[in-house]
Amino acid sequence: MTQTKKKSRQPKTEAKSKELLVQKIQAGTVIDHITAGYALAVMQILGITGREGDIISIAMNVQSKRMEKKDIIKVEGREITTEEINRIALIAPNATINIIRDYKIHEKTRISVPDKIIGIVRCQNPSCITNNERGIRSNFQVVDRTPVTLRCDYCKRITGHDNIIEQLLGQY
Ligand SMILES: [Zn+2]
Repeated sequence: MTQTKKKSRQPKTEAKSKELLVQKIQAGTVIDHITAGYALAVMQILGITGREGDIISIAMNVQSKRMEKKDIIKVEGREITTEEINRIALIAPNATINIIRDYKIHEKTRISVPDKIIGIVRCQNPSCITNNERGIRSNFQVVDRTPVTLRCDYCKRITGHDNIIEQLLGQY
């Protein structure tokens, strides 16, 4: 007696992967709505190499209701600081920061790019006073938010998004 083998079809894994993306962490930070493709840059800004031993999940180019695509980072056991949030704002202006404690959202912050950026990046003009006089911090007007574009308050030189990223990543 022979039995014909029926190939049972695997259920779609889509639901499962969605479940994984929203899986809760016990304590730490979830950075959501990162501009698609920029999760690794955000990791670098946070100084996360993966060798610290913390559990880290990264999802890139996932579907989003609010954005077409987005990146997500979850870092267990670490709450990111306001200073770090200010840096992230320059490369992922739509991100949301969820601080998780005891599996619950303790604090939710939607990043907003301020009107002025002081001291985080350098002016691109080598003869700008902010690059030549000690004690004068860079001071920029935000002229565009998507992507972030800055104009120096002193010499009016524009610093574009690519250059901001280059500078931020170069600092680590
Ligand atoms: Zn300048």
